[in-house]
Amino acid sequence: MGFDTGILLLIPGLLIGLWAQFRVKSTFSKFSKVHTLAGIPASQSVADMLRRENMGGVKIERTSGTLTDHFDPGSDTLRLSDSVFASDSVAALGIAAHEAGHALQKMDNYAPLAIRSAVVPSVKIGSNLAWPIFLVGLIANWEPLMFAGIVLFALVVLFSLISLPVEFDASRRALKMLSEGGYITEEERTGVKRVLSAAAMTYVATAIAAILQLLRLLLLANGRRRR
Ligand SMILES: [Zn+2]
Repeated sequence: MGFDTGILLLIPGLLIGLWAQFRVKSTFSKFSKVHTLAGIPASQSVADMLRRENMGGVKIERTSGTLTDHFDPGSDTLRLSDSVFASDSVAALGIAAHEAGHALQKMDNYAPLAIRSAVVPSVKIGSNLAWPIFLVGLIANWEPLMFAGIVLFALVVLFSLISLPVEFDASRRALKMLSEGGYITEEERTGVKRVLSAAAMTYVATAIAAILQLLRLLLLANGRRRR
């Protein structure tokens, strides 16, 4: 196995990633134009939803950017992007409720979320240092250093895998809250599902890309050992 053959492994990951990004953007844009019958802005609906779940303490803020919506478990703050916050669209309601789903996960001590939050600091270190450490090990032909790089990158893979149940569960909770609270009609529910599954696909794509990168590291290390 030559130095560059493994790079081919990255191509499917890259393509799936691009496809998922394209799909989430186009689905979001399509359902951003579909107004809900209830006509209540996402920020208001989600505040109401959280109150019903006895989570009125969660702050709701507006944040800039597109698809930058997130729940910050540290400060119990739900940040909704400009295109979601004041919108009453099917897409906005789906995204906002998904983030509220993360808030619910925290309240329920949902284990995968706790694990994901716990590994975040080491994953940040891992994603920054894995390749430099590995490459130095490869050039110096020193196995322990290559191994350390692989272990650091494995943390990144672990993080991307643990994100999958967290994301799917948040979307499940979102659909439940939206339907049971009467925020969306049966027809709108189909649109919300499409938006949320497109968003979930970006996490699947990230996980696949990370696994392929890990495989490439293993191939590189293995190729060097056999020389
Ligand atoms: Zn999420």
